[in-house]
Amino acid sequence: MTLNRRQFIGTTAAMAAVLSAPMVKAQGTPRVVVVGGGAGGATAARYLAKDSKGAIDVTLIEPTRKYYTCFFSNLYLGGFKEIEDIGHTYGGLAAGGVNVVHDWAVGVDRDAKTVALAGGGSVPYDKLILSPGIDFVEGAVEGWGLSAQNAMPHAYKAGSQSELLKAQLMAMPEGGTFAMVAPPNPFRCPPGPYERVSMVAHFLKQNNPTAKIIVADPKPKFSKMSLFQEGWANHYEGMVDWIGEDFGGGNVSVDPGAMTVTIDGEETKVDVCNVIPAMKAGRIADLAGVTDGNWAPVNAADMSTKADADIYVLGDASSQGDMPKSGFSANSQAKVCANAVRGALTGSKVFPAKFSNTCWSLIAPDDGVKVGATYEATPEKIAKVDGFISKTGESADLRKATYEESEGWYTGITTDMLG
Ligand SMILES: Cc1cc2nc3c(=O)[nH]c(=O)nc-3n(C[C@H](O)[C@H](O)[C@H](O)COP(=O)(O)OP(=O)(O)OC[C@H]3O[C@@H](n4cnc5c(N)ncnc54)[C@H](O)[C@@H]3O)c2cc1C
Repeated sequence: MTLNRRQFIGTTAAMAAVLSAPMVKAQGTPRVVVVGGGAGGATAARYLAKDSKGAIDVTLIEPTRKYYTCFFSNLYLGGFKEIEDIGHTYGGLAAGGVNVVHDWAVGVDRDAKTVALAGGGSVPYDKLILSPGIDFVEGAVEGWGLSAQNAMPHAYKAGSQSELLKAQLMAMPEGGTFAMVAPPNPFRCPPGPYERVSMVAHFLKQNNPTAKIIVADPKPKFSKMSLFQEGWANHYEGMVDWIGEDFGGGNVSVDPGAMTVTIDGEETKVDVCNVIPAMKAGRIADLAGVTDGNWAPVNAADMSTKADADIYVLGDASSQGDMPKSGFSANSQAKVCANAVRGALTGSKVFPAKFSNTCWSLIAPDDGVKVGATYEATPEKIAKVDGFISKTGESADLRKATYEESEGWYTGITTDMLG
């Protein structure tokens, strides 16, 4: 058979398309859009830009110009950090080749493969990575809504909320009451509320030693429970009253106008009320149609969603299996995802997925504890391989070393995320 010129060009183009599989795009520079510049999104954007060396166009969509880490925000409440110690800009990412767009993603058109921006216009993608963190479940705590977050802050997204809670803590009257409404599982940072109780107790012990802390908790137990309870007894004796599920800790309503908390029918007037409601994936995951219930189910090998092979969800927003919703987890998942996405788009080598996590908590000065594990990808989920946890009764030297380790981790992860 002889081919004329037109048939030859057509055939060659078709062959080129077949040969380029599994690359998603045969021509032009492939485009990855990342939504959310936190622990998951910033890491994924940075690694994609760094490792692809210009072979992939990476755009990060993030509304804030400064990312305040939730990690170490409790240490800010305790007086161990300044607010600026936990604020980080995106200049390093931009210098590293990421196109940083400061805007909200407000929609995803999965057919056209575009992300709509609040400021107008849209950004096209070949692969889309969502790492929007958490939003709150409406009506989760009776009497509380986002319009009440100034009276009763959550401080579960760091920045202005953390500063507000700190200001309220500092303004507490002598012998006043600090209440916390803790969230049900699963939620961002399992030890987070209890590290916060410790840091608030530390602040009050120094500045307002007759003040009290009440915790209303819908759960019967919590992360590192014996370690925290040992620490509260050692450092803050008689200050913390934890009311778990067995004692009606889940039967809670609040009145932000009257500043009251009602636990199992008993109303208490409080001075500060830190309401941490039930959580769900950041709203853009819902808008993209990749959630099932409150979270976005993903494939453990590459963090792609079950709903769309070209959309990946990282960090807190994902439903992935055994990993806790932590910054360390999100950063670890981001590296696996970036490697897989780069492989899919450029044909580069893809390594088997391996994940790890450690969550440190500070209980009192130089009294740090930790819990952690390693994980692997199975067809069903990210599955725990092995783990470790601090023990009660450890020496002061070991606890100090654990805290110092967490300081090193903080510097490491923020550099790893943002350059
Ligand atoms: C008090 C507290 C203490 C914690 N301590 C630790 C700790 O010690 N160690 C640890 O590992 N983890 C800790 N965490 C948990 C950690 O902060 C989160 O698990 C981690 O930040 C999750 O990363 P992410 O990428 O999923 O979300 P985030 O880091 O929250 O990032 C989400 C980003 O997406 C952006 N975004 C959301 N929606 C949109 C949209 N529509 N368009 C564009 N951008 C959007 C947000 O602005 C945000 O910057 C703590 C959390 C809290 C609350």
